[in-house]
Amino acid sequence: MRAVDLIRKKRDSGEHSLEEINFLISGYTRGEIPDYQMSAWLMATWIRGLSRREIAALTEAMLHSGEVVRFPEIAGKKVDKHSTGGVGDKTSLILAPIVAAGGLHVPMISGRGLGHTGGTLDKLEAIPGFNTALTLVEFRRALSECGMALIGQTAEIAPADKKIYALRDVTSTVENVGLICASIMSKKLAEGIDALVLDVKTGSGAFMQKEEDAVRLAELMVETAQRMGKKAVALVTDMDQPLGRLAGHSHEVIESLEVLKGRGADDLRDLSIELSAWMFYLGERTESVDEGRELAQKLIASGEALEKFRKGISLQGGDARVVDDYSILPQAKNCAEVIGPTSGFLAATNCMEFGVALAMMGGGREKKEDKIDPGVGLEFHKRIGDRVTAGETLVTIYYNSDAKLAEAERRIQESFSITPQQSAPKKLIQRLVGA
Ligand code: URA
Repeated sequence: MRAVDLIRKKRDSGEHSLEEINFLISGYTRGEIPDYQMSAWLMATWIRGLSRREIAALTEAMLHSGEVVRFPEIAGKKVDKHSTGGVGDKTSLILAPIVAAGGLHVPMISGRGLGHTGGTLDKLEAIPGFNTALTLVEFRRALSECGMALIGQTAEIAPADKKIYALRDVTSTVENVGLICASIMSKKLAEGIDALVLDVKTGSGAFMQKEEDAVRLAELMVETAQRMGKKAVALVTDMDQPLGRLAGHSHEVIESLEVLKGRGADDLRDLSIELSAWMFYLGERTESVDEGRELAQKLIASGEALEKFRKGISLQGGDARVVDDYSILPQAKNCAEVIGPTSGFLAATNCMEFGVALAMMGGGREKKEDKIDPGVGLEFHKRIGDRVTAGETLVTIYYNSDAKLAEAERRIQESFSITPQQSAPKKLIQRLVGA
């Protein structure tokens, strides 16, 4: 078999066999197929799509590119959550300590920034010393000692996704149901979990902007998990505007800590509690989702979730003083304001553009080798439905270099739609799949 023939086959709308998918994934993981051929195949796949059989084969091939971890030493249930990504989506940093404080284990394998969205690993790495590249032995130790451990794909666990994910980020080959399903499920099924909660975003800041596409992705991932014997549910949630008030790596660590301290933005807190509640329920810690919600609230109010996060940070080498002192996080040197051009009501945002603007200022990667600037960020002052007065600040931009500032400001300014009539924001949780 030759990669060049498989690229042509997909380019010409062919359907791959199981053997062909295995050849591509194992060849790329071992370094025998170069980035440029994998990039061409990804683009052909993005354009032509994958059949259900191909998606199942791709997920399995990526899953078995590394080890499928088991934790026989841990008696309790292991549960996890994964989001398809959006702007300001930082719930992993909040719910992992809540759920671990509630007595379940959360062995979380996450990703870096992807396209216009920020990644959990990059956010955690804003904390000085935080190590997201634990070995399998260290991962096990952190999980047994603390009930939570958050790492990236490694050479041992989901190595195919590690390489393909980084390539998709910089080749505009993210927004494809099959590629997303295989990427997410190959990591999650490698974690040795009993149950999985999926947060599938829809709206202008999501990869699946149309609700029907988000539902299709949710169904596909829930079916994949259930086929592998895992309990799973997907919440299809709104990403027509950023989640919370802050986006950017250091900023999102701060906003997560604020929620764990019982403060923070309502939408972020509500979604974090809802996702935690489903994790408690699927992990059989509570008998209902309602009870799970109450437990999550209690663990925040008592400070137990915050203490769990403090311990988790230390165990992964991070400077846990961050919990009480946000100034140890990298901060941008300058700030600028984007001003409302007219009076009226905020009717809609083109939320993806906020993520693109942030990425341009150093909050994302244009090439695989690029380093993230964790200090840059955006603070959103208005939500959909809010009254806006001409001259009011809509967004504060925190930045270091002004090279891309003007373009970022223009993109952000043009993302707001202000109308004379007030419109209601969409419901945060739009659909449940697999419940
Ligand atoms: N999250 C992932 O892990 N992979 C994707 O492809 C999209 C979101």
